[in-house]
Amino acid sequence: MEKRQLRVTGMHCASCATIIGQRLSKLPGIQNVSVNYATEKASIDYDPSKVSLAGMNAETNKLGYSLIDQSAETQTTPPTVSQETDDLINLKNKALFALPLALLVFLLMMWDIAGRTMAAIPILPLPMELFNIIGLLLSSVMLFWIGQPFLKGFFNFLRFRVANMDTLIGLGTLVAYVYSLAITLLPQLKTIFNLPDYTYFDVTIVVIGFVVFGKYLEARSKNSTGEAIKQLFSLQAKSALLWRDGQEIEVPISEVIIGDTIIVKPGAKIPVDGKISEGKTSIDESMVSGEALPVDKGPGDHVIGATINKQGSFRFIATKIGNDTFLSQIIRFVEEAQGSRAPIQAMADRISAIFVPTVLGIALLSLLAWLTIGTATIGFSAALSYGILSFVGVLVIACPCALGLATPTAIIVAVGKGASHGILIRNAEALEKLSSITTVVMDKTGTITSGQPRLSDIIPLHDSWNEQRIIQFSASLERLSEHPLATAITAVAKERHLSLITTSDFRSQEGVGVSGQLEGLAVSIRKPTRNDNAWKNRLAPLQAQGKTVVILEVDNQPVGLLALSDTIKPTAAQAVAALQARHIEVIMLTGDNRAAAEYIAAQAGITNIVAEVLPHEKAGKIKELQNQGKKVAMAGDGINDAPALAQADVGIAMATGTDIAIESAGITLLHGDITKLVHAFTLSHATMRTIKQNLFWAFMYNVIGIPLAAGLFYPLWGITLNPVFAGLAMAISSVSVIGNSLRLKTKRL
Ligand code: ADP
Ligand code: MG
Repeated sequence: MEKRQLRVTGMHCASCATIIGQRLSKLPGIQNVSVNYATEKASIDYDPSKVSLAGMNAETNKLGYSLIDQSAETQTTPPTVSQETDDLINLKNKALFALPLALLVFLLMMWDIAGRTMAAIPILPLPMELFNIIGLLLSSVMLFWIGQPFLKGFFNFLRFRVANMDTLIGLGTLVAYVYSLAITLLPQLKTIFNLPDYTYFDVTIVVIGFVVFGKYLEARSKNSTGEAIKQLFSLQAKSALLWRDGQEIEVPISEVIIGDTIIVKPGAKIPVDGKISEGKTSIDESMVSGEALPVDKGPGDHVIGATINKQGSFRFIATKIGNDTFLSQIIRFVEEAQGSRAPIQAMADRISAIFVPTVLGIALLSLLAWLTIGTATIGFSAALSYGILSFVGVLVIACPCALGLATPTAIIVAVGKGASHGILIRNAEALEKLSSITTVVMDKTGTITSGQPRLSDIIPLHDSWNEQRIIQFSASLERLSEHPLATAITAVAKERHLSLITTSDFRSQEGVGVSGQLEGLAVSIRKPTRNDNAWKNRLAPLQAQGKTVVILEVDNQPVGLLALSDTIKPTAAQAVAALQARHIEVIMLTGDNRAAAEYIAAQAGITNIVAEVLPHEKAGKIKELQNQGKKVAMAGDGINDAPALAQADVGIAMATGTDIAIESAGITLLHGDITKLVHAFTLSHATMRTIKQNLFWAFMYNVIGIPLAAGLFYPLWGITLNPVFAGLAMAISSVSVIGNSLRLKTKRL
């Protein structure tokens, strides 16, 4: 089984996505297909031994859609730009030709209607015959040139029994055209069948004109929902200045290899990811982290491609290039998330799937009703004329597109906006679920605190163990651990230039400590237990100051205490207060000692503390809260709390440095900035509000429009809808839905 992301061309509306999905899933070897109209992507799980890309294309090409392998296209340029603009220009030309004609005919129609119904307005000074001839010519051009995709949609329906929105428009305008053509060429039909003296060329012209113009606006704004991705791509540097063989040379970015020494001058863009080898500077990383303040960096620090160097000049060694860079990862995440489905879309999808056949049925039913019930009450001639207008109107006003675009366009805009603010949303589901979260559980170390503790006190417990020896032994053991406490201890040994001792049998026990053999002694560093009562009077005062205390033991004899203090993040209290103001319960979860935890919690404004939990118990705590009916988000560093992140309804990882590939998290906050958590909530609420508005209006258009066009309100209030207005409403529906989604861009986070 293989999973592929393919680009889809030729889709004109949301029902196209349904058709492609249905067709493909009938092929042997295809297990799962999900086609997204808004991103124009298809994600397919298939068995390559049973079906090939060519085989899939053979199926979809018949219907006018192509599946394109993205990996075959170049990765460093936005994959869809050129193709999209070609289609867009084509559509624009057609729209600019069709719209003025449609408007002119629309005005003439209005005049005609007004002239016949209002005494004050003169009758349209155009003889019927001339009107018909012009109508015939213009509508032929409209239908057979501009309206080609619609006709094609209709013929696909006849040949392959698949119907999309184009089918509806094609059938509607064709019926109006053919009927009008028949009575223009054979006027005697009118007397034989007692037909009304109208033609409907104008309907064909105006409907096609409006719908094509609407499609153009839709395509244009749909393009701008995906702008965030293009902006991310445009951040990439084009070239790099290398130091090779004792001289500076400039090469295209694709030629940089890992290990290259790259020179960065003041004001220049950093080409790829790497580690500074010499020089000091400050770097503007706002483009990838949303962090406004420049960051000071020096030798050993990581730099991120696409960020901008300020005053200093430095050299660095390339560590990540091409698709592995931080920026490429972000782009990949954003693309994936934009193409993912939000659960709220499920109902709209179910409706879309049966939408077109249902509308065809309603159109036919309304024609029949007019011809039977209508004929009996207002006579055949009038009933036929209403019947045709209803038939066409129903087909034209039905808009599966608005329904199909309601959710994905909002998701695309929101995910893009998040990315530019340092909030990486991994999938639409996480964004949706965030809006209903009642409880946020925060890990202490690295989430509420900086995660960079400093060794503050060293307390010998034994005569033969002085400070130096305690640090030497501790650091020798801890250098094999990646825990933040370990890093703090080894840093001190380095400051004091202590030589380290070889360690064997190293073992790390998550959430408890580390142990190993040094100079033939069994050495361990661990957290205190209840049995460490002997040191209670030394431990307690340190813990009351929020310090984490660990015990160095040699051959099971405690020989020293090490106290480490971590500072609370400057924005933590503010973020906690903002969450509480939204009536979200905030709980601190930590493996640390209760006294130390309480000290930090008090500073952050958190009163709910769960302390002294082992890493593997963290997920269980989340589950407990969920069993109480709470919707829980867990914010952690993703290292030893991955299971808890996965268990939570939404896992939120605080990314530090350049590691953002935290699988168990639905949302990753860059720079480990906890205030971004509040922004993520704001974004989630705004997105869900937008989606609900979109869905509401998309439903309303159809729920009101279809019965109105069918003439259901005629017996009640004497109103019907001319198909021309149906065309207008249809055009407005999609555009207004996308416009509403685009408003999310301006939402303040
Ligand atoms: P947190 O929940 O704050 O992230 P952990 O679960 O990682 O904390 O660790 C809990 C406790 O276990 C630490 O406070 C410390 O006492 C002890 N511990 C864990 N790893 C180490 C280590 N490498 N060295 C010393 N102590 C450790
Ligand atoms: Mg931790």
